[in-house]
Amino acid sequence: MNKYVARVLEDLKAKQPWEKEFLQAAEEVLSSLSVVLDSDSKYEKNKILERMVVPERVILFQVPWADDKGEIQVNQGYRVQFNSAIGPYKGGLRFHPSVNLGILKFLGFEQVFKNSLTTLPMGGGKGGSNFDPKGKSDNEVRNFCNSFMRELYRHIGPNTDVPAGDIGVGGREIGYLFGQYKRCKNSYDSVLTGKALEWGGSLIRPEATGYGNVYFAQEMLATKGDSLAGKTALVSGSGNVAQYTVEKLIQLGAKPISLSDSNGTIIDPDGIDAEKLAFVMDLKNNKRGRIKEYAGKYSGAKYYEGKRPWGLAKAELALPSATQNEIDGDNAKALIENGCILVSEGANMPSTPEAIEVYKAAKILYAPGKASNAGGVATSGLEMSQNAIRLSWTREEVDQKLHGIMRSIHKNALDAAAEYGTPGDYVNGANIAGFKKVASAMIAQGF
Ligand code: NDP
Repeated sequence: MNKYVARVLEDLKAKQPWEKEFLQAAEEVLSSLSVVLDSDSKYEKNKILERMVVPERVILFQVPWADDKGEIQVNQGYRVQFNSAIGPYKGGLRFHPSVNLGILKFLGFEQVFKNSLTTLPMGGGKGGSNFDPKGKSDNEVRNFCNSFMRELYRHIGPNTDVPAGDIGVGGREIGYLFGQYKRCKNSYDSVLTGKALEWGGSLIRPEATGYGNVYFAQEMLATKGDSLAGKTALVSGSGNVAQYTVEKLIQLGAKPISLSDSNGTIIDPDGIDAEKLAFVMDLKNNKRGRIKEYAGKYSGAKYYEGKRPWGLAKAELALPSATQNEIDGDNAKALIENGCILVSEGANMPSTPEAIEVYKAAKILYAPGKASNAGGVATSGLEMSQNAIRLSWTREEVDQKLHGIMRSIHKNALDAAAEYGTPGDYVNGANIAGFKKVASAMIAQGF
């Protein structure tokens, strides 16, 4: 490892040893960069790594709200404005009880490189709260969102910071957050993406992360003269990303056989088809039910309480779409033993470092989330463009642009990997391509 990288990582570990996920993300990215840093001293001279690992700004605030019994609840709200070298901060909001500053720093840090890869002018940020929307009434979710935005509105704006959804923040939450922003600012700004179509949203935005991930998998397979047709796929999660991953897999002739949530996994050996997917969408998006109910409805399927999909069935493809560190080293070995030839990440950092070592040793195709799930933020960028020109593109136009962006990300990552001596290594390629653009903007803009 390059000495400069080792020094910055050591320093980071000494300063914030408790931010496990952030340290994991920083180590993964920085260790890919040794070869770039060896080739040019300008990065060290300009202290680029030291600056890249510290957010430009962190906003931490209280979110008091009233539950349905009239009792006051208090959560913590955060916005991590990580890097604005190539555009306004851009990245989702996550509402989940596990949210803390270390998790949001990991997500914001990853977002900087991901957004750079999309080729669109977007900096990186992330935010959220330890609020859990599960089991809350619409009224409680609205009360929470109103209070959250009552503070956040003064720190964001169309040219400053444009949040979007993530875990626990879907169409309903974006609606409440946008309404409150508008009331506070008296201005109809393009300040959130993931809006509904009728009030400034983009066609294909809900689908974009899942569709984009499948397009990326298609590109990886094409490098081996292979395709998705007829391949069996394990998908985890059953939220936004998982649902549209399954939809696109079906459309392109693959056979998705699993879905999961934080309670367990269903395996359906007959395959999840369009009709079964419609059941899941209604269950998850309208009824806010649990994935277990799938096995009650479709007798061919089996429910595994407390399990993740990995290794529960033979499958050539794995598209993790739930959360970070959901595939550990043993899960990765089980995937390979069950015939897996490709892992394409819909979630952010779903594979542990040990899992990535297993993929590398087995020489399977592996795409890190910052490349393969970038379709979501890319289409958010397209939503911002449509808002700015006050026009709406058709479904076909947006899908075509998304597909083109995923092809460019794939090509840029592959080219950078080859240029720096690690052909076929999408981790190195994505990190290097993402880094170089942000670093050169930082150097050009001074300090
Ligand atoms: P949703 O909230 O719509 O869905 C999340 C899914 O993952 C749910 O099925 C949820 O189960 C499950 N899940 C969440 N936490 C855990 C956990 N700790 N263990 C097991 N299962 C869990 O979120 P998204 O689909 O939007 O996000 C999924 C992943 O994709 C995240 O990593 C996110 O950062 C990433 N991503 C999302 C983008 C987007 O556009 N939405 C863009 C790029 C990346 P349950 O219902 O039980 O909570």
